[in-house]
Amino acid sequence: MKHDIGFASLCAQELQDNKTTKPHQLPLYATSSFEFENIEQGMRIFRGQEKGHIYGRFGNPTVDTVAAKLGRLEAHGLDIDAQALLVSSGMSAISTLMLSLLQPGDKILTQGGLYGGTTELFRKVFDPLGIKSIAADLTDLGEVESIIKKDPAIKTIYFETPSNPTLECVDIEALTGIAHQYERLSIADNTFCTPYVQQPLRFGADFVIHSTTKYLNGHGNGVAGVIIGRNVEMMQEKIFTTMKLAGTNCNPWDAWLINNGLKTLAIRMERHSQNALAVARFLKEHPRVATVNYPGLPDHPSHDLADRQMNTFGGMLSFELKGGLEAGIRFMDGLQMCTLAPTLGDVDTLILHPASMSHANVDREVRLANSITDGLVRISVGIENVEDIIADLERGMDK
Ligand SMILES: *Cc1c(COP(=O)(O)O)cnc(C)c1O
Repeated sequence: MKHDIGFASLCAQELQDNKTTKPHQLPLYATSSFEFENIEQGMRIFRGQEKGHIYGRFGNPTVDTVAAKLGRLEAHGLDIDAQALLVSSGMSAISTLMLSLLQPGDKILTQGGLYGGTTELFRKVFDPLGIKSIAADLTDLGEVESIIKKDPAIKTIYFETPSNPTLECVDIEALTGIAHQYERLSIADNTFCTPYVQQPLRFGADFVIHSTTKYLNGHGNGVAGVIIGRNVEMMQEKIFTTMKLAGTNCNPWDAWLINNGLKTLAIRMERHSQNALAVARFLKEHPRVATVNYPGLPDHPSHDLADRQMNTFGGMLSFELKGGLEAGIRFMDGLQMCTLAPTLGDVDTLILHPASMSHANVDREVRLANSITDGLVRISVGIENVEDIIADLERGMDK
């Protein structure tokens, strides 16, 4: 009978892991802190003289590995050493970045048709802090230049392309060009695309953010975000410090889920894009449909631009039913396979009717001003057999 330490002590003790051979998959490091060999090592790591993990909020091997992969994907094929930081959500990516770059008195130049949460963040959180946002038509480059030229308080240009819900694109290269000319920073929300579909860094963006909750995770089972930047020092100093001290870090479990999703990103995005194009063509021909917004259709106003800056046209589209709100609601009720859910980028097809769902509490005039008409339906086209998606939409139309 061996007597070493007491029962309770053994219970509390962390045993060395019984690692024999290298795991084939990235381990999930569920630990809030990391041990030092001795006090000297601890001091060296704290001072940054030796690489090492300290505390989960500052970094974690699972989180850092996935962040590094996202940085490499966003800069793939480019001569840039992009740095990436995983954070707790897409909103957290935007707020962490803005808190790092801006001070009271600074302004953000952006567009009307942003993700709803982003518009609210700018209005309800940044505005009271003295950081104002100006919404302009970012497709009007002359206007953009004249606004920037006149207002030195504008420190960043923030945009989404294609935008929500009309899938209108903005010219990344032209916008970042104006930003650089006047020494302002440019930020692209690339959530709708992923780096498989579009790489804003290629066209000069300083920062790219994502809600990884959407296509990068791809399976609808985690909420997280990422900030990717081309300026290594800014990422490692200012932005890392904000993340660390504002506590907007990503947890290892969500990072691990993103890693899982990333393995199939290329084939998922290819299939999302193929299916979306087929669905867009089907809708285009349908007598109950008034308009279809998909940049892959040759008559979409942004088609040529999208063709230049996107590798495929992605999985998001929207369309306008004839017959307004009532037609929209009846259509939704007729669907059997497609799911009504307020997210996007999952493997299955998701439908959103902004007028009755996400924007039900927004004044009709405000909705209409942002192109959210009563009969508008947004689809995140999944990777199912496209015949089944189309058959389900047909069922909705028959209602
Ligand atoms: C969902 C989304 C966000 C916000 O991301 P969360 O992970 O929900 O915080 C930001 N931008 C776009 C384009 C989105 O679709």
